[in-house]
Amino acid sequence: MATFSTSFLGCKVSQTDARALRERLLADGHTESETAADVAVVNTCCVTHEAVAKSRKAAARAARRHGRVYVTGCGANLSADAFAGLPENVVVVPRRSEETPAFVAGDVGAIGCVQADAGLDRVRAFVKIQDGCSFSCAFCVIPLVRGGTRSRRAAAVLDEIRRRVGQGHREVVLTGVNLGCFRDRDAGYDLPRLVREVGEVPGLERLRLSSIELNHLTASLIAALRETRVVSPHLHVPLQSGDDGVLRAMARRYLARVEPLEDFNVTSDAIVGFPGEDEAAFRRTLDVVRRAGITKVHVFPYSPRPGTVTAAADTVPAAVKRDRSARLRAASLDACLARWRGKLGGEDIVLVDRPGRGYGDDYSPWLVDGPVGELVHVRAAAVTEEGILAA
Ligand code: SF4
Repeated sequence: MATFSTSFLGCKVSQTDARALRERLLADGHTESETAADVAVVNTCCVTHEAVAKSRKAAARAARRHGRVYVTGCGANLSADAFAGLPENVVVVPRRSEETPAFVAGDVGAIGCVQADAGLDRVRAFVKIQDGCSFSCAFCVIPLVRGGTRSRRAAAVLDEIRRRVGQGHREVVLTGVNLGCFRDRDAGYDLPRLVREVGEVPGLERLRLSSIELNHLTASLIAALRETRVVSPHLHVPLQSGDDGVLRAMARRYLARVEPLEDFNVTSDAIVGFPGEDEAAFRRTLDVVRRAGITKVHVFPYSPRPGTVTAAADTVPAAVKRDRSARLRAASLDACLARWRGKLGGEDIVLVDRPGRGYGDDYSPWLVDGPVGELVHVRAAAVTEEGILAA
């Protein structure tokens, strides 16, 4: 029997893939250990140059403390070269997410199906419904490393969710690279229908989407989200820019027309310093964030990725990117603080996901005491830059 640890860098899809690896190793009878493990799995990210550098560092660190390190995920698929020169106990696994758990488990060696549910994190279940992307955003390396879009069967998704709820998960997050592309054509499902049926799973208390592209935020999806009792009022919509010219240059499939959705907390991603983004274009991003009532913005200074349309373009100076990143993050913090202050004196139900912390129904962060994995009733007593302080 081997002892192992898993870690991930990057997005919810990377986190979901790392969990799939972890559960496969547990199911094979291996034991999880944060210290002195035989095997480490580092599920990597390649969305920016910095993400690859961090992935490499994480693999190098793991190699000092483990007998063998498996480097999996987007970084491993983009370029094994990024991990060249690491110690010999590092194994780069450039495989699709569907194949990776079986490959790693086969290499580690199965012990037998002895504790299939051992040590599961029972707080929030990330359930993958779709992987890959067939869009071709000019900056994005994801279609190259994860392949074209493909969906799981709706019946398999619903089965997994029933199983997760049975295991004690309170909240399910439907996860994918481009969720709006989910289709089970044979069974007649699209995302709105899936949301409605997941909402009927007995015992499920909360349901979220990990993110949704603006052009997939259709009237039918919004209706499904509003009418499904367990759906949380939070949407992550990765806008990337608020300027139509930049969006066209990015080959995004929408323009910067964002209708405020007052009954949802809307969060987003933005790339600053995309080639051709001038000060006026950047200000339009600030403006759209403000007008659409967006709160948390994950800001990514543009970095060219190999193999993409804009691989050779990087025209905005680093200092300008830093300045715009700081201004957008400051605007985001102001918007978050304003939303959180609006809750003062009010009540919420928080899912405690780490000691001292959790998220409210609309994904606002709370500082709260309570057992990890429990939904606790709270009253907002004060606001800090880290989140809302529970009374
Ligand atoms: S929609 Fe665009 S940014 Fe998102 S994964 Fe697909 S290509 Fe990349």
